Amino acid sequence: MKVLVTGGLGYIGSHTVVELLNDNYEVVVIDNLYNSNIGVVDKIKTITGKEFGFYQEDVCNLEALEKIFSENKIDAVIHFAGYKAVGESVKKPIMYYENNIVSTLHLCQKMIEHGCMNLIFSSSATVYGDPERLPITEDCRVGGTTNPYGTSKLMIEQMLKDIVVANPDFHVIALRYFNPIGAHTSGLIGEVPNGIPNNLMPYIVRVASGELEILSIFGDDYDTPDGTGVRDYIHVVDLAKGHLKALEKITNFNGMHFYNLGTGVGYSVLDLVKAFERVNGVKVPYKIVERRPGDIASCYSDPSLAYKDLDWKAEYGLDEMMRDSYNFILKYNDK
Ligand code: NAD
Ligand code: UDP
Repeated sequence: MKVLVTGGLGYIGSHTVVELLNDNYEVVVIDNLYNSNIGVVDKIKTITGKEFGFYQEDVCNLEALEKIFSENKIDAVIHFAGYKAVGESVKKPIMYYENNIVSTLHLCQKMIEHGCMNLIFSSSATVYGDPERLPITEDCRVGGTTNPYGTSKLMIEQMLKDIVVANPDFHVIALRYFNPIGAHTSGLIGEVPNGIPNNLMPYIVRVASGELEILSIFGDDYDTPDGTGVRDYIHVVDLAKGHLKALEKITNFNGMHFYNLGTGVGYSVLDLVKAFERVNGVKVPYKIVERRPGDIASCYSDPSLAYKDLDWKAEYGLDEMMRDSYNFILKYNDK
């Protein structure tokens, strides 16, 4: 089976390509290197000992897609390519809507033209906005997104539903990721630093490695056990494996399906800091500051539908996530 992975050199994409190759899928990657670098190709080959096809192209480019689908008999697509920085999306909404939406529309157009009818889409827990209840099940209300990035995911989910109605043979699974962290145990691939991080885990590792001075914890007066924000952190390798499970099952269902990929366990910011310090034996200095606008108190999944339908559940715990996140950044800085 040949799988096209868009954004396959990025953080989640690269880990998924590794799992696909390890499971003997044929893989073709399209990535324009907007948020990744070409060195990841060799790193994936080193980890897996396998070859795969690579096109340095933009998914918005119809001609490039035409070439890829003509040159390869693609059976399924996993669509990771997109912009993902929440804060940047507020400042550059046109750029975010254009890239995330046009890439998906053009991809679907070419898939259908070439009879490739299986799509797995990277959605996000952000589509639930401020969740109506916890833990979050897939039938919880969606909407109330607070930034163009989140709204683009919601719009794409809606677009895909409409495309499936018009093309009943088109199978779509939207995977709603919770908070992916960690890295491959080899330390060769992970979330590559790019400026000052907005997300918690990349910030913690950079404080621990001495690149940043102190972690600012955004509020300790939330209605949570210790007052800091609670999220459902999931090891990126577990997340990657979820895509393989979705791929195995995608032709079993008609239409469009949504699955939460999380552990089902919520941890606070302070839980993460303490676990990181304990597992890695380093201090993470922090200070409490104002809440970050747009943040919600708690967000964690009920992942039982993915277990029931896809036979997938997360295996790694918080300690492995802390260990592998730090291992990657130490190796990355050391090279
Ligand atoms: P990433 O930025 O590391 O990877 C995305 C990859 O896509 C990059 O390699 C980038 O160069 C590429 N890309 C972007 N636009 C492209 C285009 N038009 N054509 C070709 N390549 C393009 O991001 P990630 O963390 O791996 O996330 C992958 C997907 O999962 C994204 O769609 C993201 O929105 C979604 N997601 C991520 C998270 C998270 O916390 N990381 C959470 C929920 C959902
Ligand atoms: N957070 C924090 N300091 C930071 C970054 C994040 O205290 O420098 C908190 C944030 O308020 C939230 C949690 O960590 O409660 C996770 O934030 P992240 O941005 O990683 O994920 P998201 O909020 O998008 O789920």
